[in-house]
Amino acid sequence: MFKREEYVLDAQWQRFLDLSKDFATPNIFIDLDTIRQRFIQLKDSFPYAYFYYAVKANPGVPVIRLLDKLGSNFDIASRYELDLVLSLGISPDRISYGNTIKKAEDVAYFYEKGVRMFATDSKEDLKNIARCAPGSRVYVRILVENSSTADWPLSRKFGCHPDMAYDLLVHARDSGLTPYGISFHVGSQQRDIGQWNDAIAKTKYLFESLEEEEGIRLSMINMGGGFPAHYIQPTNDLSDYASEITRYLEDDFGENIPMIVFEPGRSLVGDSGVLTSQVVLISRKNNTALQRWVYLDAGKFNGLIETLDESIKYPIITEKDGGKDGEVILAGPTCDSADIMYEDLKYRLPLDLKSGDRIYWLSTGAYTSSYASVYFNGFPPIQTFYIVDGKIEDKDGNPVSR
Ligand SMILES: *Cc1c(COP(=O)(O)O)cnc(C)c1O
Repeated sequence: MFKREEYVLDAQWQRFLDLSKDFATPNIFIDLDTIRQRFIQLKDSFPYAYFYYAVKANPGVPVIRLLDKLGSNFDIASRYELDLVLSLGISPDRISYGNTIKKAEDVAYFYEKGVRMFATDSKEDLKNIARCAPGSRVYVRILVENSSTADWPLSRKFGCHPDMAYDLLVHARDSGLTPYGISFHVGSQQRDIGQWNDAIAKTKYLFESLEEEEGIRLSMINMGGGFPAHYIQPTNDLSDYASEITRYLEDDFGENIPMIVFEPGRSLVGDSGVLTSQVVLISRKNNTALQRWVYLDAGKFNGLIETLDESIKYPIITEKDGGKDGEVILAGPTCDSADIMYEDLKYRLPLDLKSGDRIYWLSTGAYTSSYASVYFNGFPPIQTFYIVDGKIEDKDGNPVSR
């Protein structure tokens, strides 16, 4: 069993219980104080860097408003995210179109709205950018090793070999675009800091060879996300990430460190959330089975998609923790056998757990609320509420009364 106080401070927890107790489950409560604190911590750790919040991690309006106020920029993956962010009065020069997979018409849409910064990793996409967003700055995403130390890998599907990145940046210049930089993402919830070293070394090679052979001077390294949230498996402190990564940059670039961009998602919002679910049913599959199946009203299709392959291991607590416990298999409410969260991982829950008891999933602020199915089996999408200055707002930033 997990110690709640290692994840959420007493005062914050009391406030959460008080504010959330009358809401139907399942739901997610996001505490903006945590996000504010994480953003400030990140800025202090990398005082030389620029931050583009990866909106997909939690696109709630209260989150975007807060990060806007704190001076963050925004990494956007679709025209719908773009409309949302622009509707809040954020100017397009603080937005980057970081998705390498996009339609030509979407490139045109971003350009028309004033966005001038685009990621790419393929020739076809680059041609679309040259045609639909003339003169824009482009950065090329390189492939990094598909490492097993990231709990939610984002490699393989995105990025290209450095040799191709080279060609694309030359092509960008030749087609009237501004070759701006290199990006990579070492994988989300990356527990091995050394992964940044390899990626920075590849980047340095590209900076040097493009300048020497083509006279192209790149300006920026976009290091994506990857910093951890606080789940079960231990990770280094953010300060360790910062000192190591800064050292890699100094080793490779010396005095001439280019503009550095991060696109944090999980590390900013992950720890801010508590997903509350209720026990629907507890059963054993035969009379002498030692393991109980605990079925909850939240599942893989309703907020907990990152339990896929048991990748993200959330701490879970109940009101009955502290007494005797036993192994459980945790599953969701839908008629799909894939809707099992943890089976190999041996979670333990109290033996006196009953239907109707609440189960709290900690550190569920990232990739939960907006990463859920719509009415699968008729279950509505999980609702998210935001604690803003001690009051509750919905995902659109409207006040919610209790
Ligand atoms: C999802 C994503 C991020 C955020 O990654 P985290 O590991 O959640 O911080 C950053 N950049 C890009 C391009 C992404 O797709």
